[in-house]
Amino acid sequence: MQLPVLHIEYPAWVASHVDWDRPYRTDEDRMRLAIEMSRQNVVTGTGGPFGAAIFERASGKLVSVGMNSVVRYNNSTLHGEMMAFMMAQARLGSFTLRAKDGPEHELFTSCDPCAMCLGATLWSGVTRAVCGADREDAFRLHFEEGPVFPESLQYLRKRGIEIVAGFLREEANAVLELYRQNKGVIYNG
Ligand SMILES: [Zn+2]
Repeated sequence: MQLPVLHIEYPAWVASHVDWDRPYRTDEDRMRLAIEMSRQNVVTGTGGPFGAAIFERASGKLVSVGMNSVVRYNNSTLHGEMMAFMMAQARLGSFTLRAKDGPEHELFTSCDPCAMCLGATLWSGVTRAVCGADREDAFRLHFEEGPVFPESLQYLRKRGIEIVAGFLREEANAVLELYRQNKGVIYNG
């Protein structure tokens, strides 16, 4: 029998929709990139309506983007945030984004993280997570976020991770609505 080997790549549109060289100076700039990842994923049909991006906090340098790739790879763990963490760590050659003497990193995600991605946020080494649409927005499409409790968020905050919710929520939620109108696949509902 042939044992499986995983190979994970960005969809082709990333090459033409991501500017890796410009600094993303404001929270708005950074969130709009995460939302753009979710939108392109929907309009090109490469996955669910969720996008993410990771930046150096101080400089605004873009380190990675992520987009939901569950259906594309038949892989239930490939949420947008997971893709962003994996790509950032692969790029930096480090299993943590909180390396001693290195820059701090932050996650922007177009929707509140699910239980898996919230756990991964803790292990990833980011020191800030900024979220767009909220779990009710996702739930309206019958996407579930799993066991995320107020205590879960408190736990991360106590570990030094700043969490911002509902940032540019309406812009982020517009992509969820677009997905709903397009009758996109709901893979965990
Ligand atoms: Zn997730």
